[in-house]
Amino acid sequence: MTDGRQIEIVAWSEADRARLYGASRTATVAEVLRDGMFLLRQPFDRRLADLRVGDVDLVVRMPVDVGLDAPLYRAVPAPRSAEATGTAVSDTGSQLPPPPPRGAVPSFPEQISDRTAIGLAYAEEVETIASFIRQGLSVLVSCEKLVVKQLGPLIAERSSREAVVLDTPPEDSDPGAALMMPRSQRQRQLGRLRELLRELKDGRFLIVPHADLLAGGPDNQLNAEAREVVELLYGNAEHVVLAFADPSIGLPEVLASRFTTRIGLSGSPRTVPDPIDGRPRLLGEVLVTRAERDLFLGYEPSEFHKHVAGLNPIRVRQAMQYAYYQHRGRERPTGLDLFKTIRGFKAQMSASFEVPNVSFDDIGGYHQVKKEIEDALRIMQGGTTDPEDELLQSDLIPRGFIFHGPPGTGKTLFAKAIANYLNASIMVVSGPEVTDKYVGEGERKIRELFAEARRNAPSVIVFDEFDAIAGRRTDRDDGGSRAGNAMVAQLLTELDGFRENVPFLVVGTTNQLNLIDPALLRPSRFRGIRVGEPDRTARRAIIEVHARRFKIDLTPQLIDLMVDATEHRSGDDIQSLLRDAYVGQRLHGHPANDPYVIGELVGRMNRAVKEHRESRL
Ligand code: ADP
Repeated sequence: MTDGRQIEIVAWSEADRARLYGASRTATVAEVLRDGMFLLRQPFDRRLADLRVGDVDLVVRMPVDVGLDAPLYRAVPAPRSAEATGTAVSDTGSQLPPPPPRGAVPSFPEQISDRTAIGLAYAEEVETIASFIRQGLSVLVSCEKLVVKQLGPLIAERSSREAVVLDTPPEDSDPGAALMMPRSQRQRQLGRLRELLRELKDGRFLIVPHADLLAGGPDNQLNAEAREVVELLYGNAEHVVLAFADPSIGLPEVLASRFTTRIGLSGSPRTVPDPIDGRPRLLGEVLVTRAERDLFLGYEPSEFHKHVAGLNPIRVRQAMQYAYYQHRGRERPTGLDLFKTIRGFKAQMSASFEVPNVSFDDIGGYHQVKKEIEDALRIMQGGTTDPEDELLQSDLIPRGFIFHGPPGTGKTLFAKAIANYLNASIMVVSGPEVTDKYVGEGERKIRELFAEARRNAPSVIVFDEFDAIAGRRTDRDDGGSRAGNAMVAQLLTELDGFRENVPFLVVGTTNQLNLIDPALLRPSRFRGIRVGEPDRTARRAIIEVHARRFKIDLTPQLIDLMVDATEHRSGDDIQSLLRDAYVGQRLHGHPANDPYVIGELVGRMNRAVKEHRESRL
């Protein structure tokens, strides 16, 4: 009986996998995990540590089964006693790194450097990567470029091994070389890589800070340099390499598989473990300075994370500094002001994200749809700390919604209201644009859009006309089908590779749900919600919403007439009707609430709709 207590483990060799599956069923989970270099797909739940292996359900995967972007977690925290004495020897005989400084991480320190921010927020990951390096294993880290400069040295320090960093040599100064064609930066770096690999001494490891710039891109477009990098790294398989690549660029699979382990780092965690007692400390307490806390009245550290979850620790600090300077000297800014400014900061950072101002109250009618969305959002937001519930959640909670129904019925509006409800920013992308504008590059574009959305979390990304990129996959082997299938595959990868605690939602809109690939409609991916033509109640509410917006004072009788006259019309049609009435009043002085004016406009609208329909027949 396992009570659904599943632990998904990543083992790095077949031997380890066999050892795990063959472990004595009476050994404890902690004992078995300590016995090898394992990583987990979910953060380790300390409560499982003392359970017997026979009482839990172990699922063991190999690194190749786990996507490059999937976040991985350390299996079991290093025993605290070993850290305290500082000189414990691990089972391979190598020395453990020096213990972390004594004393807990300070709350609200005076200052926080980028290095400290990264060291705190990514402490567990740094330790994991360092332990792989110590064991002589190569690691590929997928993370944003901004954090690489700090991460490399931190990992090197924790690994107690000497690191050699691949840099770019300056332009050729040799007069002989200058006579020839000047070499590109890539070529110069490649030359240096060759040199370093040749000379790399035992015990040292090589850091490649931007492997993607050297050899990025998909497999089928490997250029000459990328091919050489692949050859060099495979040809020197005995050397330990720590490489970094940006998730939005990615590395060819052939190169990525040179690395024993791949680890994805994104955003910032909600809590960081205190190195002394392992107690979780809130991000909003350790990455916020005292002056910043004191400035914002009623600042609530537990609320901090959801506003910055998608930002890497360096960006978190930038956002805080920005907010501090924006509000310093103003009268009594509050915690709410802080979070609003952080939203603005994120929107500025990314031209494509905006902060929506539509609320559910601005959407007329559709009570059932609103209730369905609100219920789903409540479950998604969780609010439970029970691990069994979390498991349940990760399986059943959709990553987003697909709104389907006729055009102009408010599907995009719902997406905006959701973003507003979640205090999130939003990016609306047109599906056909992804395929047309970036011919043959849809897959890469999707990866970039998701990386950007994660950085902007809490965020909502909306794909209008979702069927253009999420259409059913086919078995045909023409170019178009291949590109389409690859885009759906990329969407699936992105949806399944969510970091659970990054608040980020995907919304697709389409006129026809049956065009969408069925794999996307599983409960753990998208929830389909129909937004049909507005009924009488909805039409009345929509008329009222827009009459308020355009400050048109309609009598109840006129509203009744308009409700009747707009049967089979969408919210968008009703909105245009009231907008035209408003414009008529402003430009020509026709009273916007005059029944004749409205009657005339309704007639015009119906004619326009009819003509539009006929033109499509
Ligand atoms: P869709 O995405 O379904 O094609 P949109 O969400 O873009 O439609 O709606 C277009 C416009 O129509 C909105 O900006 C809004 O002004 C109006 N609209 C549609 N439905 C509603 C509604 N239920 N309440 C208020 N306005 C609506």
